[in-house]
Amino acid sequence: MASRKPDPEQRPRNLVLVLGDQLDHRATPLRELDSERDAVWMAEVHQEATHVWCHKLRIAGFFAAMRHFRDELRAKGVTVHYTELPERKSDDRGEDFATVLRKDVKRLDPEKLVVTRPGDWRVLESLGQQALESDVELEVLEDVHFLSDLGAFESWAQGRKELVLESFYRMLRKRHDVLLTDDEPQGGRWNFDEDNRKSFGKQGPGEIKAPRRFRPDDVTKQVVELVERRFGDHPGSLEHFDLPVNRKEARAALRDFVAHRLAKFGPYEDAMWTDRDFLYHSRLSFPLNLKLLDPRECIEAAVEAYEAGDAPIHSVEGFVRQILGWREFIRGVYWSQMPRYGERNALGCDDRDVPSFYWDGETDMNCIAHAMKAVIQHGYAHHIQRLMVLGLFAQLLGVHPGRFHAWHMAMYVDAIDWVSLPNALGMSQWGDGGVVGTKPYCATGNYVDRMSNYCKGCRYDPKQADGEEACPFTTLYWDFLARHEDRFRANHRMGFQLRNLDKKDPKLLKSIRNRARALKARVTRGERI
Ligand code: FAD
Ligand code: SF4
Repeated sequence: MASRKPDPEQRPRNLVLVLGDQLDHRATPLRELDSERDAVWMAEVHQEATHVWCHKLRIAGFFAAMRHFRDELRAKGVTVHYTELPERKSDDRGEDFATVLRKDVKRLDPEKLVVTRPGDWRVLESLGQQALESDVELEVLEDVHFLSDLGAFESWAQGRKELVLESFYRMLRKRHDVLLTDDEPQGGRWNFDEDNRKSFGKQGPGEIKAPRRFRPDDVTKQVVELVERRFGDHPGSLEHFDLPVNRKEARAALRDFVAHRLAKFGPYEDAMWTDRDFLYHSRLSFPLNLKLLDPRECIEAAVEAYEAGDAPIHSVEGFVRQILGWREFIRGVYWSQMPRYGERNALGCDDRDVPSFYWDGETDMNCIAHAMKAVIQHGYAHHIQRLMVLGLFAQLLGVHPGRFHAWHMAMYVDAIDWVSLPNALGMSQWGDGGVVGTKPYCATGNYVDRMSNYCKGCRYDPKQADGEEACPFTTLYWDFLARHEDRFRANHRMGFQLRNLDKKDPKLLKSIRNRARALKARVTRGERI
């Protein structure tokens, strides 16, 4: 049989699949692409926006960034077969990702499909299935965006009883020679966490330059209108669309962070304040997770600021720890634990879903109302709002960890399965029983009071566990400890908290638990608390 002549418009040799979180011109399949013979395939599909009840900003952010990436590839002379979401619902056949791909593979008849490893186990499985059904070879290439490959994580993890971030992070610091002099950590310490837990005190945070906002261009405006028209009933708001949607904007966002917020990032990492959604945080997770930014350039920019004397070591190390440490560690955990990880439910929660105010923010709990305002407006909350406000409350309430993760996937613009699952189900809900964290992050409302000014404007009192004024966090905290007492006795890191539980007057504890039961019932009925 005569070999056919490849034509990327008609019959490409390789069809390179680029998913919404793979907008990286330096990805191996794109670096190796021959524009004379190969083509790129991208698709906006209805199912991706609806398989979880997605925030409008999340849908618009992804589609806008994808369209910009498509246009950049085309400008470079690459053939891109791109399916746009139909303008009208009536024109949409509701096809899922697999159906659109199968049809295009049949139509284009490529010799091979090539893809970078997706950020979602489910998608990787589905691609394998589609290739099999379409009888076409599928080549999955490793994602060079990350600094650590999955093999390195596996070898590091092998034989370890516990997967502790610190030793993985130090290994990567050494391997990539980050903030080291003669193999010793700069600043004399590997870890500046102790210096990095400050609150703002009574005076508050003062002036902080807010992250740079990016005005939607015509391409983005079209997407925003499309999403409003097609997904108007979805949660969240598009009014504040200001996300970086291409590489140029992503780099500008990084420069803005380094120039205006990095220096104080460290000390105030854990602090919260009313109506200050970003404080000293970078707001870079969206461009990072879509691969518009490379983690190496973020680390380099922070280290350069340290070397130039523009940012102190505790802030720079704190930021490097997030990107080189946590981000890489979390990805390693995901791929080493999947596919069963998503089913874990170590605390044996029943099927309880997140409260209704996790969609609209309608609650008297000031801390949750403020965190939810940021989630609704920006698809964002910073780490401590996610962990010690929204995550903590769900955990104390007994929300099923899988349902909490599903909610998280829906509401945050930076949520991709590989990063959301270990953080939401693992770190925050302790659904994995100790893979990501050795003990659950559980605390009373006093933690929130110490780290923010939320409690000052709240109808509840963080110090009280019982009675009408009692803070729901504090009430539910004691109920949570009592509920899981037997499970936690073997965990020495819970010793202090359990000793305090043992000291609680039994009559008072009974009353607190009755109040906890009543609170849960009210939340189940969708009543305002
Ligand atoms: P900064 O505070 O400025 O930190 C800098 C960068 O470090 C972030 O942009 C991010 O890329 C990285 N980083 C920091 N902590 C983590 C972490 N634990 N895991 C992975 N990367 C980290 N992050 C996501 O990117 N996507 C998620 O879906 C996600 N889900 C989370 C769910 C819960 C319940 C919790 C507690 C944390 C979650 N995180 C997630 C981690 C972290 O909260 C966000 O990365 C961070 O809040 C994003 O804001 P920022 O860009 O301003 O981060
Ligand atoms: Fe949140 Fe409780 Fe403080 Fe109110 S009192 S803001 S509910 S921690």
